[in-house]
Formats: sequence, structure tokens, C-alpha cells
Amino acid sequence: MPEGKIIKALSGFYYVLDENDQITQCRGRGVFRKNKITPLVGDHVVFQAENETDGYILEVLERKNELIRPPIANVDQAILVFSAVEPDFSTVLLDRFLVLIEANDIEPIICISKMDLTNQKVKQQIEKSAKDYEAIGYKVILTSTIEDLGVEDLLPLVQNQISVFAGQSGVGKSSLLNVLRPDLELKTDDISAHLGRGKHTTRHVELIKVGSGLVADTPGFSSLEFNEIESDELSYCFPEIYKAGSDCKFRGCSHTSEPKCAVIALVEQGDIKDYRYEHYISFLEEIKDRKPRY
Ligand code: GDP
Ligand code: ZN
Repeated sequence: MPEGKIIKALSGFYYVLDENDQITQCRGRGVFRKNKITPLVGDHVVFQAENETDGYILEVLERKNELIRPPIANVDQAILVFSAVEPDFSTVLLDRFLVLIEANDIEPIICISKMDLTNQKVKQQIEKSAKDYEAIGYKVILTSTIEDLGVEDLLPLVQNQISVFAGQSGVGKSSLLNVLRPDLELKTDDISAHLGRGKHTTRHVELIKVGSGLVADTPGFSSLEFNEIESDELSYCFPEIYKAGSDCKFRGCSHTSEPKCAVIALVEQGDIKDYRYEHYISFLEEIKDRKPRY
């Protein structure tokens, strides 16, 4: 039986892209209702073709993850876009997005946009921050869609993956998608406007082919709350803190005030950046102060 990925879901139809680049318009079968599985964009499915264009889905393979907004399964990576200016780059906001992305088991790619608008001083600050994040192990690219900078670095990174853009409104996500797929000519402001729509409007998300990769046309991580993260899980979302934590004296060390904490030692030595540690502490407080949900 052929397999493929759902790239679009609309009015009860699922559009399945197979390895031959063919799209089959599929319906689900009763089996999904019984098992309470609603196929999602991004799902890897087994389908049966009835003719050249139509078919039905037989099975949804196990998901690696599942985003709620937009509803999309099996996201491999998030292209996290921050503008250098307009709006200004902020490491606290970057770290907040990074935590949410890491918590979903998605690999972040940090993309700092609008580099053409930077003066010398801002440019140096951005390059310094880029080095800090690269030292942690993150991929960082600096881009400008005006000067066509860095896009050649982004293109290979999206191959063979399902990617979703993330980042505040106005940072240049739609502009980057347009550069990746100029033939689509998406209006940047139209895409941005989707973000501002009411909560109850369900917009359909579509995966767009970029070479051998698939990129969602709607950005993810619009909610920046830590609702799904527990305080003892937060350190997993700071790779350098998590790594250092294996040398702490106490198991389950929260790296706040425990004696012989390896994380605090590395912060004092300057091997873990002060601002990263400060963000860890402030996010931890925020999670602890969270009112119980039930
Ligand atoms: P989105 O809301 O994140 O999708 O952002 P858009 O792609 O709609 O871009 C917001 C605004 O920033 C638009 O006016 C773009 O023309 C502008 N913009 C996007 N990328 C760049 C860039 O690299 N350089 C400059 N100077 N402006 C950019
Ligand atoms: Zn510790």
C-alpha cells in the first residue's frame, strides 16, 4: 500500500503527498471515528488509491509530536525568527520560544532577520549573541530578505524535514517563506493578519514543498505560556544547564540554591551565560507561581 504525508486538510478531504510527488485526495474511513484519531496535516499515512486522483486513508502512523495551533503533526524543526531591529532582538523572548520548542521535542533553528537594518553597534551585539547560542549547540543564521543574505544557509536546512516558522508578528517570517518559495507570492501582510485573527477562527494550515522539505504556511507557537511544562522539566529545555546538571551533588537539583551545584559553578566561571541562567530562574518562578489548572 502506498504511503505519504498529509499536506492539507479541507472539508473532510486529506491531500496526501507520496514519494513520487503525486497528490491524492483522500477521505478518512470509519476506522478513524472508532479510534478517535483525526488525521492531521503532517501525518504519515498509509492510503489506498481508488483511481489516479482519489483514495482513502487506511492508517495513520504513530506521531512524533503534535502542535495544537496550528494543528500539525510530526514537526521536525522550528525556524525561530527574531528580527535584529523592528522589533528589537531580545534574548529573554528568544529563550521563551526556545523552551516551548524544546518542550515539544522540536529542533530549533534560530534565524535573526532584517540584518540590513542594523548599524555597526547592533550588528556586533547580534553577532555576539549568535556566538553564545552556537556555543550552546543551536544553529544560528543571520538573514536579510532585502539584501538576500543568509537564505542560502536556510534552504539546505529545510530539506527532508517538516518545518514550522515561529516568532513574533512582524519579524519577517512570511518574507522568508516567500524567498524559499518565490512562486507562491504570498502577501506578507495577509499571512501576518492570520496571527491576529480571533481564537475561534480555525484557519487551515498547509505544508508547502520547498525542495524535498515541507514548510507550514502558518506560524506555530503563538501562545507563549508555559502551561504544559513542569518545573522539574524546565532544565531539559536549556541544553547547557541540563548537561552541567549531571555533575550536581544532589539528584533532582533545581540549580537554585543547592550546595555543590555544578550549574551555579559554571555560571560563576562564566561558562554558562548569566542571562541564560537568569532566564532559567525567572521561568522557573513563573512555572512555580502558576495556578493549578484543575
Ligand atoms: P511576519 O509577520 O513575521 O510574517 O513578518 P513579514 O514577513 O510580514 O514582515 C514584516 C515587515 O518586515 C514587512 O514590512 C517586511 O517587508 C519587513 N521585512 C521582512 N524581512 C525583512 C528584512 O530582511 N529586511 C528589512 N529591511 N525588512 C524586512
Ligand atoms: Zn544544580
